[in-house]
Amino acid sequence: DSMMRLDRFLSGESEMTRSEVKKKIKSGLVEVNGITALRPEQKINPSSDEILIGGKQVKAAGMVYLMLNKPQGVLSVTEDRRARTVLDLIAQPYARKLFPAGRLDKDTEGLLLLTNDGMLVHRLISPSRHVWKIYFAVVEGEMTKAHEDMFLGGMEIGEKHPTLPAVMRRLSIDGDFLWSIEKESGEGAGQRETEALPSGLSLRMRQICSESLTLGDYSRCGEGQSLCAVALREGKFHQVKRMFETVGGKVIFLKRLAIGSLTLDRELAPGAYRPLTARELRELY
Ligand code: URA
Repeated sequence: DSMMRLDRFLSGESEMTRSEVKKKIKSGLVEVNGITALRPEQKINPSSDEILIGGKQVKAAGMVYLMLNKPQGVLSVTEDRRARTVLDLIAQPYARKLFPAGRLDKDTEGLLLLTNDGMLVHRLISPSRHVWKIYFAVVEGEMTKAHEDMFLGGMEIGEKHPTLPAVMRRLSIDGDFLWSIEKESGEGAGQRETEALPSGLSLRMRQICSESLTLGDYSRCGEGQSLCAVALREGKFHQVKRMFETVGGKVIFLKRLAIGSLTLDRELAPGAYRPLTARELRELY
């Protein structure tokens, strides 16, 4: 039947070699259904046993994790009487009991994680966790460095509290950050990151733009419009659109590119989806 060796299962689900896995097992770091497993050859059932390495779940039985490139025009709710929802895009048997980790507006495209793992959803969308989300926006109006600074400073968008520091970067048509091309004198790129922001966020934004954006995305930008990347760690209603509105811009296209460590796969056309890889799942946990 579906029983397999513990060491073979673990090396398949992680990036560890079989001998690294054996070492972990021998040193007592692996648990099967709550009991320390000391024999690499122990037989396990991957679809029903709960397996932990160093207290972390390797892959929970029956869990499904799908990366969807949400197209415009569908709702990120699980049920609607009239409109199409993201679950209408997913083939059975997957679609049963899946829910989206967070929402995107009907006209927003991009990364949506669909799963039946409620704990993970909670961790990703819980306001107190402040998971970074990265967006690509085409904005009507000319965005400047002053606008970037307003995002960084936090702004009043009609909520109880001002927004937390966020990063907005103008992109050139080939995806580079404009400020780094303009070579502004005075303060350097590094100094523009405040202490409220993780170091390396800017770098990650740039990397994500070059990894996940398509030519089609860039070509949406017309005369008098700006291409921007935005990183936020909140998820207020229509937040990206409202922040741009506050600085006098209007978002005409919005696409989510990343949630925490998870980056939208450029190979996924709008409406397409795939399971997360073992590595993506581990990094997310
Ligand atoms: N911000 C928005 O304005 N819309 C989204 O869909 C996501 C973030």
